[in-house]
Amino acid sequence: MNLVRSTILAAAGSNRLRRLVSTAPGTRSVVERFVAGESCARAVEVVRGLAADGLNTTLDYLGEDTTDVEQAEHTVRTYLNLLDQLHGEGLAPHAEVSVKLSAIGQKLSGRLSVDNAYRICAAAEQCGTTVTFDMEDHTTTDATLATVAELRRTWPWAGAVLQSYLRRTEADALALAGSRVRLCKGAYAEPESVAFGTAHEVDLSYVRSANALLAGDGYPMFATHDPRLVDILGERARWYGRKQGSYEFQMLYGIRPDEQRRLAGEGETVRVYVPFGEQWYGYLMRRLAERPANLGFFLRALASR
Ligand code: FAD
Repeated sequence: MNLVRSTILAAAGSNRLRRLVSTAPGTRSVVERFVAGESCARAVEVVRGLAADGLNTTLDYLGEDTTDVEQAEHTVRTYLNLLDQLHGEGLAPHAEVSVKLSAIGQKLSGRLSVDNAYRICAAAEQCGTTVTFDMEDHTTTDATLATVAELRRTWPWAGAVLQSYLRRTEADALALAGSRVRLCKGAYAEPESVAFGTAHEVDLSYVRSANALLAGDGYPMFATHDPRLVDILGERARWYGRKQGSYEFQMLYGIRPDEQRRLAGEGETVRVYVPFGEQWYGYLMRRLAERPANLGFFLRALASR
């Protein structure tokens, strides 16, 4: 991993820096580029706008590593409220939710997060939509995949996420090829014992894992902004005889919005990952780590005013 990326990811864990960045005058404009506001109402407004452009969405209430039962409960209730609002506005079939198990109590007790995940899935079913469980750092991979497998016994649509930077992922993709699976590169600082060390190896692993998913009868969700991978994935999907709509592309809110609309205009199913909520700091730092070019934009905005 390069030095800039590892430094920014380390900063993601610093409380001192978090306070400094959160109170800096130019922060809001940077945050608004990547985060759809702090409230459910604002997030639903953003979803409505994206839906008008033919884009599906998956909403993430920001927050992770909860070590507080009340905070976990607050997160679950926010998701239930959000699902209600999406349903009420007729947006639910095209808007789902993304949930981090660590935000609903995984670090407190495995059972608590599973029970909370059941509540969110039951609400999503009532609203006619789905849930995808985000993947976090590699120490949680087994537990998260086991939870999603358990949920899938009741809700076969429960989505898992695989990260191509992990050496294990091609094997996981083969095992999960009959399911709804989001494939991404991976956003955490991982040791080389478990993760590939070069971007080239991560890309090759992405394509091998994508092949495994496309060969199965599940629903692959390709989460990447990488133009080269998007081209390759389109070609691989055709090679496997996949019709448009039997897989989808996913990108993050605020990143390559023109490309999101171009793909949708070509008939591809595109889903935008829309994060919202007060706890945007860790999320923003991971986005900056991926693209140090954004760092200049960020520092200029912070220095402004
Ligand atoms: P990168 O290697 O970051 O970028 C490749 C190329 O894409 C760049 O060279 C550039 O051409 C283009 N590009 C990238 N960013 C930009 C930009 N800002 N503007 C213009 N061009 C750009 N990670 C997890 O660990 N767990 C998850 O659950 C998870 N869920 C995700 C869900 C979605 C929908 C998406 C899109 C990502 C998710 N991620 C998740 C993050 C993911 O793992 C990567 O960290 C992130 O997507 C960056 O990887 P990339 O594939 O876009 O390629």
